[in-house]
Amino acid sequence: MSDNKPKPTTTDAGIPVPSDEHSLTVGRDGPIVLHDHYLIEQMANFNRERIAERQPHAKGSGAFGTFEVTHDVSAFTKAAVFQPGTKTDTLIRFSTVAGERGSPDTWRDPRGFALKFYTTEGNYDMVGNNTPVFFIRDPLKFQHFIRSQKRRADNGLRDHDMQWDFWTLSPESAHQVTWLMGDRGIPKNWRHMNGYSSHTYMWVNAKGERFWVKYHFKTDQGNDFLTQKEAEKIAGEDSDYHRRDLFNAIKEGNFPSWTLKMQIMPFEEAESYRFNPFDLTKVWPHADYPLHEVGKLTLNRNPTDFHTEIEQAAFEPNNLVPGIGASPDKMLLGRMFAYADAHRARMGVNYKQIPVNRPKCPVHSYSKDGAMRVDNVTDPVYAPNSKGGPQADPSLNPVHDVWGAQGDFVREAYTLRKDDDDWGQAGTLVREVLDDAARDRLVSNVVGHLSQDVSDPVLERAFTYWRNIDPEIGDRIAKGVKGK
Ligand code: NDP
Repeated sequence: MSDNKPKPTTTDAGIPVPSDEHSLTVGRDGPIVLHDHYLIEQMANFNRERIAERQPHAKGSGAFGTFEVTHDVSAFTKAAVFQPGTKTDTLIRFSTVAGERGSPDTWRDPRGFALKFYTTEGNYDMVGNNTPVFFIRDPLKFQHFIRSQKRRADNGLRDHDMQWDFWTLSPESAHQVTWLMGDRGIPKNWRHMNGYSSHTYMWVNAKGERFWVKYHFKTDQGNDFLTQKEAEKIAGEDSDYHRRDLFNAIKEGNFPSWTLKMQIMPFEEAESYRFNPFDLTKVWPHADYPLHEVGKLTLNRNPTDFHTEIEQAAFEPNNLVPGIGASPDKMLLGRMFAYADAHRARMGVNYKQIPVNRPKCPVHSYSKDGAMRVDNVTDPVYAPNSKGGPQADPSLNPVHDVWGAQGDFVREAYTLRKDDDDWGQAGTLVREVLDDAARDRLVSNVVGHLSQDVSDPVLERAFTYWRNIDPEIGDRIAKGVKGK
């Protein structure tokens, strides 16, 4: 083909097609014929372009980058991805939680901060948020929580009454709701917000010593936010405001970065710590567990096909590599089933063969067949075998990355400790972290939110909820909504 000539259009089977514009008809003015297989292929493909959207975290975008280890944390983990000087390809996806795939980026909501590290030991995923805590601490409530944030059954509308009904009946939500209603509930863009693992994970070093850890990705761009008013205006003008910002920044070579810092708790301290350190509604105060710097995440490459690289990207917190383990955080344990199951439901069992989800290290699994499998399966297809098939490494037995547990089967909350309560850390955030102006904006945001069709009994509970967080803030909110 000469250099200037465009490539010939073909069908999906590679057969050249004679027209990009005209269907095959009986005479110029006659009916279209069924055997115009190119027209039919185009229509059929179009009808199937949309895959199911994520439930939740449907609206988002992402980019590729590199994670580079700058500080030696080998005393705490043997994971290859965190050894000194290691550089690892990464993928990140940012998102809102409750909105649908086309919803405005600037709605008040936590933001997803999902990372995939393509490590030499397999894909390591961290499915975090821009907040260090979450609304609930038991995965049985997650489905109900998300339904309360999405749409009603009758009119298909989002509903503040439903949201506050759930929150006020779930006091463990207080810390996250306080966070959400503050400035960081609407980040200026994804570049100007932190990312947190939120969950506690385990790190294991080469000697088999265990540590409990929390990840903090601190934005190098500085934290910044939109006011409620700014966010509402932008939502009406550009629903893809955050997606556009990230894409343009990277396109212009203005690569955003985050510094990873860890909180590290010696394994034995968890048992005697003053509150349950695995409770996802609480942070570990920095005074107790200071931050240890690990490395830098830099985003430097945009996707070239949004659908294959972002919409089909699958993150799952069960993807843990040697040297990194789970913790007794019940939400984490629930998510270790739910994420992979969501991907199987949305994209089929072979979603890990989609290039963006593929590990960059060799895969020798015994998984076989299923819809859309593209990798050839080779014999032997079973283990154990005497035919030279892959063999598991018994030294990887979960001897180290486990914790002891015993007791009868129960359906009960975590055992309460001395400093376990639902209001304390939310109150600290209001009183000790926010300044006067930020507290004023918090009150204004909550008053605005509660003033939208929240029914009386729920409102009264909301005032009590805020008075439990901080009596003065609660009074100001009640006065703002009802003038009393
Ligand atoms: P510190 O004073 O050591 O830390 C305060 C933290 O608050 C910093 O991490 C800071 O993040 C963050 N922060 C600042 N402004 C806001 C805001 N408007 N909304 C939410 N977070 C903000 O105190 P403690 O560690 O003792 O924690 C006190 C309270 O701070 C906690 O109850 C919790 O609500 C909040 N917090 C604690 C975190 C932790 O992991 N310990 C993490 C984030 C918040 P940055 O440095 O990025 O500005």
